[in-house]
Amino acid sequence: MSRFFSGKFDALTPYTPGEQPKGQTFIKLNTNESPFPPAPLAQQYAKKELDKLQLYSDPQCRDLVAMAAEKLGVGEDEILFTNGSDEVLNFAFMAFCDAAHPVVFPDITYGFYPVFAQLNGIPYREIPLQEDFTIRVEDYLGLNETIVIANPNAPTGRYLPLSDIERIVESNPESVVIIDEAYIDFGGESAMSLIPKYDNLLVIQTFSKSRSMAGARLGFGAGNKDLIRDLNTIKYSTNPYNVNRMTMAAGVGALEADGYFQVNCGKIMETRDWTTKKLEELGFEVIPSMANFVFAKHPDVPGKGLYLALREKGILVRHFDKPRLKDFNRITIGSREQMKALIRALKEILEAEQ
Ligand code: PMP
Repeated sequence: MSRFFSGKFDALTPYTPGEQPKGQTFIKLNTNESPFPPAPLAQQYAKKELDKLQLYSDPQCRDLVAMAAEKLGVGEDEILFTNGSDEVLNFAFMAFCDAAHPVVFPDITYGFYPVFAQLNGIPYREIPLQEDFTIRVEDYLGLNETIVIANPNAPTGRYLPLSDIERIVESNPESVVIIDEAYIDFGGESAMSLIPKYDNLLVIQTFSKSRSMAGARLGFGAGNKDLIRDLNTIKYSTNPYNVNRMTMAAGVGALEADGYFQVNCGKIMETRDWTTKKLEELGFEVIPSMANFVFAKHPDVPGKGLYLALREKGILVRHFDKPRLKDFNRITIGSREQMKALIRALKEILEAEQ
C-alpha cells in the first residue's frame, strides 16, 4: 500500500478471481466458463465493429436493449446493460444500500458481495445457510435490509424455487431484493416474470456463462423502470460508455441466436447429470446443482489435496479455503470430453490413495 491510499479502504479485502493461466495447457474447469465458442452471429456482428472503434459506443445500448426487450420480454425502460454483471451488482450496492439500508446475503455465496459492501462503506450481515447449504426462506421474510440472493447459488449450485423467491420479494415491499441469476439458464426459472408485479425486485443476469461471452464482459439488471433509472444515475456518474462496441454488437447476435444458446444449455445440463452420476459412482457427495458447475467432496481425500492432485494432472478446478467449504471443490461443467478426462484423472487419484 502506498502512503497515499485512502484510509477509507483500510478494511477492504479485494475479490480473488479464479486462476486464468496463459495458453491451453490446462483443462480449465475453475471459473464456470462455457466450453463452447460464442454464437457465430455474435462473432460476426462483433467483427463488423472493428473499423468503427474510433467512435464511442452508444451509452444507451439502444440496439441491444431493443433486442433484449424482444427476446427476454422486458420493457425497454426496464433493463440496463453493464460491463459484466459484476458492474451492475456494484451499481446496485451503490444505489440501494447505505447505513440506513444495510445489506444481507447468505454466509456462503458469491464472494464479491462482501467486497462491494466494504468498497462502498455499507454495513452488511451474513445469514447462515442450513447444514445442507439450502436457504431457510423464513430468515429473509420482513427484513428492513436490502437482500441479495444468488439463484442458483455459488459455489453450491443450490436452487431456490421461484415461489420461494416470490415470498421473499413480497414480504419485503420496503426493501430492494436483488436476485443474481448468473446461472439461471441451466434449468432454473427466472424471476424476470415477476418484474411487472413487484417494484422492489431487481434481477441480474450475465452473458458470461450460458451465452459463452465471459471475455466480452456483458451483464444486465432488469426491474421496475424507477430502479433502472436509479442504476442509470450511477452509471452516468461513473462510466457512461461502460459497454464497448464489439461487446454490444456481440450481445445482439447472442440474443438473436437463441437456438444456439438453448442447444448449448441443454448440452451442459446433460453433461452435468452425467458428471454427477460418475462422481457419485466414485464415492463423491455431490450437492444437487442447477448451475454449470457441481460442488463435490470425497470422504477419503481432503478438498485441497484433490485440487492439487488434479492440478498436477493438468485439470484446474476451484477450491475455497474456508471453514464450511474446504472439503469441497467446485467443478465447472465443460465438454463431455473434458469431463471424461476429469473422471479418468479422479479414478487414478483415488486408486493411488488406497
Ligand atoms: N454473480 C455470480 C453468482 C457469479 O458467480 C459471477 C461470476 N463470477 C458473477 C455474478 C459475475 O459474472 P460476470 O461479471 O462475468 O457477469
